[in-house]
Amino acid sequence: MQKLAIVGGGISGLSLAYYLQNDFDITIFEKEKWGGKAYTQKVNNYLLEEGVNGFLSNSPKTLELCEKIGIKPIKANENAKKRFIYDNKLIQIPTKPLDFLKSDIMSFRGKLRILKEFFVKPKCDEESVEEFANRRFGREFTKKMMIPMLAGIYASTPKKTSMNAAFPKLKKIECEYGSLFKGMIKLKRGGQPSGELHSFEWGMSEFIEKLKQNIKANFVKKEIKDIDELKDFDKVVIATPTYEAANILKKYNKLSNLLSKIEYNPVAIVGFDYDTIKPVGFGILTIKEKSLGILMDKYIFPNRNAIRVMLGGARYPEIRDLDEDKIIEIAKKDVEKITGAKNPKFSWIKLHKKAIPNYSLGHNELVENIFQEAQKVGIILTGNAYRGVSFNDCIKNSYELAKKLKDKNA
Ligand SMILES: Cc1cc2nc3c(=O)[nH]c(=O)nc-3n(C[C@H](O)[C@H](O)[C@H](O)COP(=O)(O)OP(=O)(O)OC[C@H]3O[C@@H](n4cnc5c(N)ncnc54)[C@H](O)[C@@H]3O)c2cc1C
Repeated sequence: MQKLAIVGGGISGLSLAYYLQNDFDITIFEKEKWGGKAYTQKVNNYLLEEGVNGFLSNSPKTLELCEKIGIKPIKANENAKKRFIYDNKLIQIPTKPLDFLKSDIMSFRGKLRILKEFFVKPKCDEESVEEFANRRFGREFTKKMMIPMLAGIYASTPKKTSMNAAFPKLKKIECEYGSLFKGMIKLKRGGQPSGELHSFEWGMSEFIEKLKQNIKANFVKKEIKDIDELKDFDKVVIATPTYEAANILKKYNKLSNLLSKIEYNPVAIVGFDYDTIKPVGFGILTIKEKSLGILMDKYIFPNRNAIRVMLGGARYPEIRDLDEDKIIEIAKKDVEKITGAKNPKFSWIKLHKKAIPNYSLGHNELVENIFQEAQKVGIILTGNAYRGVSFNDCIKNSYELAKKLKDKNA
């Protein structure tokens, strides 16, 4: 059997090992924590996610993997349907078209401008999310809806994010159908399944532990600093963030330089518990605060007793240089301003100085170049920095990569 080294024991590396365990003799190297950004801390009575909060149930490979390893995901309860935006006051995000027209989330003029989307000419070239949203839905929509959404998903801003890389499916609909509304009306007729938020009873680490138990491999706690440490292996997969991959692969100058071009946004997660805090719901996204959003974990999943504030991102990258007490203070003030809740009885923090890769303008082309260079030197790359940032994307990409490697191995 060929010997395969996988560097990085996050969901990308672990799921790849799961899919390849019968085809290779696998060793996985992890420098810190199995699960990477999917890691749950238990502090006193509190279950706190350091990173991944959950995943949507619209990705069959994740659900299939759960079934194969014998773990049942839990669906967020009905409260999760209530989502809010803070724009100097709390506004519930309407979920039905009629409610949207009635809500004060946008001005009447802004709402009318959205309807013009049917008639805006399609553009298939590379552009930022800001350009896309301004062009198709108007500037007010970008400010009120896309700024909070980009903060919530990518910890980034519409200006700094490539539409083609971050939302390829929407860009494809625009190109194929000429308008998003026209495309969505047609696709609805095709019965596209929509996803609901899921996690696990005891958090994401419960899944990671179960996955590890179902993988036949050598698990090694070790930081790989140079690719030459892995000379004894027939194949090497690097499943780390790109700044780590660039260092491991420093002897391949061109590849290493390309990998270094992918920037990461910092994110701090601050957990609090208050005697009372409202609104009850999934959470609140913001438009201009240093806190990008407040996740009301305790109202949507069992065994969670806290809420978590997500701060920083591309909106406030300076967060990576602040000390933890200062970050907690900022989060506390934002929670008080947004919800009125005061004097938390518990607080906790996790600062990721390099949390999430930014899919900047030109990302897809950069990734193509990275993969071509990697192929030239016989290195395989995977992870959330390339073609999809979500937990679901990582599992789907590992499945597809495993298929390719099995075919080559056969
Ligand atoms: C704060 C935050 C919240 C998020 N929330 C969600 C969410 O709710 N839903 C969702 O779908 N996605 C979410 N994401 C995105 C999600 O984290 C990722 O898509 C996914 O977990 C990334 O997995 P990965 O294996 O590609 O990378 P990582 O999880 O970063 O794993 C890489 C691993 O490589 C290891 N490593 C690095 N260098 C070395 C080395 N030299 N030697 C050995 N090991 C090394 C690291 O320690 C790490 O364990 C979130 C991300 C963050 C940061």
